[in-house]
Amino acid sequence: MTGLSGLRAVVTGGASGIGLATARSLAAQGAAVAVLDLDPGGVSEPLVGLRADVSDDASVRAAVEQAVERLGGLDILVNNAGIGAVGSIEDNPDEQWHRVMDVNVLGIVRATRAALPHLRRSVHAAVVNTCSIGATAGLPQRALYCASKGAVLSLTLAMAADHVREGIRVNCVNPGTADTPWVSRLLDAAEDPEAERAALNARQPLGRLVTADEVAAAIVYLASPAAASVTGTALAVDGGMQGLRLRPV
Ligand code: NAD
Repeated sequence: MTGLSGLRAVVTGGASGIGLATARSLAAQGAAVAVLDLDPGGVSEPLVGLRADVSDDASVRAAVEQAVERLGGLDILVNNAGIGAVGSIEDNPDEQWHRVMDVNVLGIVRATRAALPHLRRSVHAAVVNTCSIGATAGLPQRALYCASKGAVLSLTLAMAADHVREGIRVNCVNPGTADTPWVSRLLDAAEDPEAERAALNARQPLGRLVTADEVAAAIVYLASPAAASVTGTALAVDGGMQGLRLRPV
């Protein structure tokens, strides 16, 4: 029981994977939830689907205002929208760096900036950012992605410090490799997707990927009044990958 009845939540990137699992879980526990996504077409009741691009300030502002109007206020913001990039620093041109940082880092800044005036009116205000194991681990062939998530981790801590006296908590989750459409797309691009998936599972401490629902459960906890004294924290949901000091994949 996390007691989300009466609370209002916005989840960015909430039309797929971890974001969708989070939006559904928040709603199942009584919250009114709006999903902001580039493609909210598949989002169904009771979730409110709104089109928004977190790399476009006007688009995010308009969608947050629309969400607040539909939900009657805002208590919880889940900054989950994110994109990846494969390669070392020699592989990704500047434009790709700008694009990934724009979505993964500035996307959080934009959505939170738009949400803050509303969160200040809430008595249970919480922001949860979807970070990654890549924030603190050197994932091979993921330089840009790791750098962006490192920035998300620092941003989470700085935002937690800036807003703690306003009663706004800010935390993040650090998922390990999670079984979402994102990872399926990467596996599908391999020569032998089944063999690739089996090898990926075998490299995980638990012998399987983390599920989207497991990451969602951590996000929902951090967003809930049950975590009223938790701020400036990164909660790993990685099957023990980091805590056990295993080699990340
Ligand atoms: P996903 O691709 O299944 O879902 C991402 C969603 O974000 C999509 O619905 C997409 O439309 C939306 N989105 C992308 N760019 C957007 C933009 N500019 N504006 C609005 N929405 C946008 O991915 P996922 O695996 O569920 O990942 C969600 C988050 O979790 C990301 O921040 C990702 O970095 C993080 N994460 C994922 C994993 C993993 O293994 N899947 C691991 C660690 C962290």
